[in-house]
Amino acid sequence: MPKTETIVLPHGLPGSRRELHVYRFGNPGQGPKAYIQASLHADELPGGLVAHHLIRLLEREEITGELIIVPAANPIGLGQFAFNHHIGRYEMGGGENFNRNFPDLYALTRDKLAAVLGPDEEENRRLVHMAVAAALDEQTPADENAALKLTLMRLAHDADIVLDLHCDYEALMHIYLGTDLWPEARDLAGDLGAPVTLLAHSSGGNPFDEAFSTLWWQLRRNAPEGVAIPLGCLSATVELRGQADVEDALARRDAEALLRFLKRRGVIAGDPGPLADPPGEATPLNACELVRAPAGGIIVFRASLGERIEAGDIIGEILDPTTQQRHEITARTDGLLFSRFNQRWARPHEAIAKIAGTTPLPDRQGYLMED
Ligand SMILES: [Zn+2]
Repeated sequence: MPKTETIVLPHGLPGSRRELHVYRFGNPGQGPKAYIQASLHADELPGGLVAHHLIRLLEREEITGELIIVPAANPIGLGQFAFNHHIGRYEMGGGENFNRNFPDLYALTRDKLAAVLGPDEEENRRLVHMAVAAALDEQTPADENAALKLTLMRLAHDADIVLDLHCDYEALMHIYLGTDLWPEARDLAGDLGAPVTLLAHSSGGNPFDEAFSTLWWQLRRNAPEGVAIPLGCLSATVELRGQADVEDALARRDAEALLRFLKRRGVIAGDPGPLADPPGEATPLNACELVRAPAGGIIVFRASLGERIEAGDIIGEILDPTTQQRHEITARTDGLLFSRFNQRWARPHEAIAKIAGTTPLPDRQGYLMED
């Protein structure tokens, strides 16, 4: 059985108490550590159901490492409603996307680490974890949102595996991963059966997963001769299809996939079984086209999720119902249509679909996220 812990978020308002519920399996310091959280975007709920199934499955398993699960990672977003509509992606006080602007761990630790890192990779791993823990302890959050970020980072900071479970609007399963982690993390895509894995050194938005992984390759790239830096954290954002894909059968299958992956990585005892090839190979995030609405109006898709698209294909139209004019939505790349907006009213230039291509697109530089 897991040990459960309730953390009250600091820096809230009087009379308004918010809690994080943490499930701990195994023992700290024993074997590899994995950290899994769900619903940092609080209106993305498939991960919460997957976490529920995973917690149930784990009751029958032997934990050889340490595993922390936070099934509802954003109690602020869980309570945000406007006009009967749940708003979980942005903090309604200041408008910030809940999964952006996590602290830059490299900037916070590089000076201290430069003085102590040496030739021993395992010793360096320990020193980096200590430096990160100290840097996080020095942070003073300005408000409850910043306190939430810091609390989640403290739970995950020394994990070997960090999985942040999200979902898209309407989508196939896909994974965001650091370029340097591929193909080492190909087993994650294989176990989950993810047809799309998108690689970037940095997406430009400092999301949760990148806070942990980019640190290591920045240290490695800037290390002097003779200093050995491991890629100390396999950190990924897993997009569990679309917002409405909340079903027990799907979630149970995803939980079983995560269990196999955790067995493969030595966090759980037992045979994970043979590793399947992922249904699709990884592609660069800057080759993923964000298809934008050519005009405002009603989105009428022609192409379905999972369709292979060629550059120049019309994947749908925007209808202006006031003038009866139709505007074609044209793909600019060959690739797999893996995500569509789930509302059908678009503003001009709004990102309404994603196509995973293989050739980097010239305008996909710098900030690579859709918002
Ligand atoms: Zn999300």
